[in-house]
Amino acid sequence: MPTLDHPYRDLTGGAWMRGNLHTHTTQSDGRCVPQQVIDDYARRGYGFLMISDHDILTDAAKYATWNTHGMVMIPGNEISANGPHLLHVDADCLIDPAPSRSHVINEINAVAAQSGRGFAIVNHPDWQEKFDHCSISELRLWAGYIGMEIYNGVITILDGNPYATNKWDMLLAGGRRVWGFANDDSHAPAHVELGWNTAYVKDRSVAGVVEALKQGRFYASTGVTITSITVDGMKVRIETENARRIAAIRDIGRRHAQVDDRVMEVEVPRDAKYVRFQCWGDGEKMAWTQPFVVRIEGRNEVGGSRYITQWQVTNLVESLKLTEASPKHFAGRQAQPWIPNKDNPVYADFIDVRSMIREQPGVVYLATTIRSEADRMGTLFFGYDGPVRIWLNDKEVFHGPGHNPAIADSLAFHTDFRKGDNQLLVALDSNFGKAWGIFCRVEW
Ligand SMILES: [Zn+2]
Ligand SMILES: [Zn+2]
Repeated sequence: MPTLDHPYRDLTGGAWMRGNLHTHTTQSDGRCVPQQVIDDYARRGYGFLMISDHDILTDAAKYATWNTHGMVMIPGNEISANGPHLLHVDADCLIDPAPSRSHVINEINAVAAQSGRGFAIVNHPDWQEKFDHCSISELRLWAGYIGMEIYNGVITILDGNPYATNKWDMLLAGGRRVWGFANDDSHAPAHVELGWNTAYVKDRSVAGVVEALKQGRFYASTGVTITSITVDGMKVRIETENARRIAAIRDIGRRHAQVDDRVMEVEVPRDAKYVRFQCWGDGEKMAWTQPFVVRIEGRNEVGGSRYITQWQVTNLVESLKLTEASPKHFAGRQAQPWIPNKDNPVYADFIDVRSMIREQPGVVYLATTIRSEADRMGTLFFGYDGPVRIWLNDKEVFHGPGHNPAIADSLAFHTDFRKGDNQLLVALDSNFGKAWGIFCRVEW
């Protein structure tokens, strides 16, 4: 039975709130001082705002010095020097703008793994004369960013294309879960209120807005208001206030269906990888939902990339500290094939080792073999809820603290694979018995 994986499952107990994550002030190259910018957005009824000056962090302490008119002010900056621009949203520190944006995104996520704060969005990919401020190869190579600007207001008056839905569809069709954002990138009053994100927020706070954005519980807009999103099996119904046309768009940008109406109901075809809805209203008003991804039991993939479910696992090594774990130590131990817990499954694709951990402190080893057709670079994606160390071919490639709960793909990094079999070993610290397991997949 196919099911739809989408972020609009739980639209209760909160409210829709509109916000912009990309605006500049005189702290960098904007024309207005921060207070004027804040006043302008507040006057227009925005619920949240992030001042994103180039490589300058605007944090809670700075916001406290201005009158924010009750808006939720998100700390952040635009990582700009040395390479394509990224928004660092909910930032609690400045990340060094290294030329390798892959590295920068990994740093953002490493900090987030410790503090629980901060995520990356790729900005205006279609800016500049070749329409590739950020190319599709870069977007494919980088991992660990949660979204991209599919609309950037200021590009309407610069070279390139403000809409980057072409690259978005390519990523979605390739199995990437990337949320689409619309932002102003305002540098002057004329660029204010061009594009925004309307999020279903359960708690009117920075954490509440950030939670909604990270989950993808929002839609991007330049003027069309979506009033209701309901899903019944494979049927999706979108209601808007002011759309004149709505299209259901599937892989790879193809139009599956369209209506000239403010409401659309559509059965998502089971052979689609995903469907997303794009609305047009008067003038250039638009809105975009996030993707509804088709999942088929047994296909066991998130849009094309398979989670690794073949593992050899050891019993809990109760006396072992994670710092003392090693491939050598693992080599002498007995391991058995991992068997999914059919009675109490957590998620498909989640390697649940609670039956090994039994709520006791210690370390569980998980080992698998990844076959590569060539010497090449791959991206390893992980989710884990206890501290972990990861080795590839006996070389340590990651060591990090746990964070609850395990979120698929919350860690991603590039590493070299050799042609043939590659041995991947994970040591999962049970975090005093609280850990449950891991997610793991590889993308080439
Ligand atoms: Zn920029
Ligand atoms: Zn900008």
